[in-house]
Amino acid sequence: MSKLTDISYVKGILAKHGFTFSKALGQNFLINPSVCPKMAEMCGCNENVGVIEIGPGAGVLTSELAKTAYKVIAVELDKRLLPVLAETLSEHDNVKVINGDVMKLNLKELIQEEFNGGEVVICANLPYYITSPVIMRILEERLPINSLTVMVQKEAAERICATPGTRQSGAISAAVHYYSEPEMLFKVSAGSFLPAPKVDSEVIKLNILKNPPIRVTDEKKFFRVVKAAFMQRRKTAANSLSAGLGMPKAEINALLEKSGIKPSARAEELTMQDFAEIADSISN
Ligand code: SAM
Repeated sequence: MSKLTDISYVKGILAKHGFTFSKALGQNFLINPSVCPKMAEMCGCNENVGVIEIGPGAGVLTSELAKTAYKVIAVELDKRLLPVLAETLSEHDNVKVINGDVMKLNLKELIQEEFNGGEVVICANLPYYITSPVIMRILEERLPINSLTVMVQKEAAERICATPGTRQSGAISAAVHYYSEPEMLFKVSAGSFLPAPKVDSEVIKLNILKNPPIRVTDEKKFFRVVKAAFMQRRKTAANSLSAGLGMPKAEINALLEKSGIKPSARAEELTMQDFAEIADSISN
């Protein structure tokens, strides 16, 4: 078992470096010994597949990834954690820690430089304040990765993985299903973290698809339609689309009717195919 899940060891090492947790950076470190080995095993890294970790914190997941993958690149924003990581990861010579913001780094270039065309996965216990932007950035950039295994708050996991056309789906569900096949892996209780957050978490895996599951003539238009449809969740999709796309309601109703969608439908009732048909039938 990793020393890094022993609360007194972690507290001791953080205190030695004068580290205090930053809420703003979403710093809740894992202390449940069973979670990181499971994540490392399920994320698909191995002696031939490298891994990028976002936000290594004190290095608890990083050290498990280092035991499984031939190479680990860990991107940490908080400079104060660099000396901590130098100490906790000292026994692993296959880990490189990069100080940077995952939202600003050129990830495509980083993958090319560090993995040189080899297979790569991403694995992370994501800081909750940037869960959706990080996932969206990675998917939209079509990074050359096999999958993205991330721990996120339970509610976010449900929204991200929900199949479009079902109650919990949102704009992010449509994007996630366009680029990947999502899987819910396992739950992690709030008590597994130091400090404990208010809500439970879930580990999810987004398996990147080679080709989207639906055909659209203009990807940008497809996502504009999805965003507009969900902009006003309490309204019907027709009202929301009309406001979001700046098109007369009668025109939207005619488009919906052509695709066999009832005018009272809400965005969460629309399938990927419905969004694709609407996008393909608008002219601007
Ligand atoms: N992986 C560790 C664990 O599981 O115990 C820490 C996870 S903690 C939820 C999130 C980590 O992401 C923190 O170490 C935090 O400093 C780091 N972080 C926050 N914002 C970041 C950003 N924009 N880029 C890279 N790392 C970030």
